[in-house]
Amino acid sequence: MTHSTDPDLTDRNQQLFERAQALIPGGVNSPVRAFRAVGGTPRFIERARGAHMWDANGQRYIDYIGSWGPMILGHGHPAVVEAVQKAALEGFSFGAPTEREVELAEAIIAQVPSMEMIRLVSSGTEAGMSAIRLARGATGRPKIIKFNGCYHGHADSLLVKAGSGLATFGHATSAGVPPEVVQHTLVLEYNDVAQLEQAFALHGPDVACVIMEPIAGNMNFVRASTAFMQRARELCTAHGALLILDEVMTGFRVALGGAQSLYAQQIPGFRPDLTVLGKVIGGGMPLAAFGGPRAVMEQLAPLGPVYQAGTLSGNPVATACGLATLHEITQPGFYDRLAARTRALMDGLKNAARAAGVPFATDSEGGMFGFFLMDELPQNYPQVLTTDGARFNRLFHGLLERGVYVAPALYEAGFVSSAHTDEDIEQTIEAARSVFESLS
Ligand code: PLP
Repeated sequence: MTHSTDPDLTDRNQQLFERAQALIPGGVNSPVRAFRAVGGTPRFIERARGAHMWDANGQRYIDYIGSWGPMILGHGHPAVVEAVQKAALEGFSFGAPTEREVELAEAIIAQVPSMEMIRLVSSGTEAGMSAIRLARGATGRPKIIKFNGCYHGHADSLLVKAGSGLATFGHATSAGVPPEVVQHTLVLEYNDVAQLEQAFALHGPDVACVIMEPIAGNMNFVRASTAFMQRARELCTAHGALLILDEVMTGFRVALGGAQSLYAQQIPGFRPDLTVLGKVIGGGMPLAAFGGPRAVMEQLAPLGPVYQAGTLSGNPVATACGLATLHEITQPGFYDRLAARTRALMDGLKNAARAAGVPFATDSEGGMFGFFLMDELPQNYPQVLTTDGARFNRLFHGLLERGVYVAPALYEAGFVSSAHTDEDIEQTIEAARSVFESLS
């Protein structure tokens, strides 16, 4: 591992951070990048290849963030780079339809059969916000139900008790969101069937939709129990509300058909009404989507009364990147290999933690993983918050110093790509072993 101990080498990250802080709030363009939860200097990344990234000091890291999910093939996959270069030569953006948008729509729908129609947008936030508007427009109802700790992007009405970076700052709701804007957002505890039943008993006729992360990556990694998912589906159907699965993180990440394909194995006939996608479908370019049944999707402009638009929606370079990525991940055996590698990593970390007497609970699915420095996996956000934050911070910095880059916050999931090698996994476990020993 090219880990350096020369203290001077850390200067360029710090210099860049100081320059950035003078111009950009917190020195970053998305809060979690600022390392506020864990302290220290964010690494300014210069380049990345495969499973590795190099910072401004030339330090190499094994990357388990993968740009927060999109980089399922690792960085700079040759076929993806080639597709992007070709598309860029043909033109960056036309503001007119292209064949590639149709191809990407076909490629996504082929794997996610609950989506009969799809609309492409540029970010997960946009997709989630638009799905909510569509649900309200299609049902003519105002209320939405979300769950404590689930994050669906930073649209006003969804910025209530969202996990992730917001939890870091200790605010359940952002400033700048008037109470009237969130008065129709009901926030319930994740995995609490009784609360959900009660909410529908009280508000059923007014509920437009239930939105949830099927595996909540913004609480690190907490699965919706099968019973919870099944009851959510039943209650939505019984009350005429739409079930929206936010698969921005889990879509094409935990399985080719997303988390919904896993629940469909447990719950006969299971499918959500609307699905929100992002991250992997853009392969690292700004691209996201939402979709569902034809009758609902045809409520969107220009066909229907629900307005939604975007200058860069379906961008030709982003769709080329997404298509090339999807081509690779639909090859036979891709997810089996990815899941096996992810499990090997988590097993190794668990064994290393246990050997050092550090509590460690972990779960993973496909190329997404979570771990908690506790004995049992949490089921909801209040339980997640009982994690020992100070210990996590020491683990984070210990790994970073040893060239292993995991999420700088204990509320975030981690990601393994197809570019991670056995050697990367072994080096990571070795690094973790020495950090766990120092933690015990
Ligand atoms: N939904 C989920 C589940 C997410 O994890 C995220 C981002 O992390 C979003 C929505 C928002 O996506 P974006 O950051 O592309 O706006």
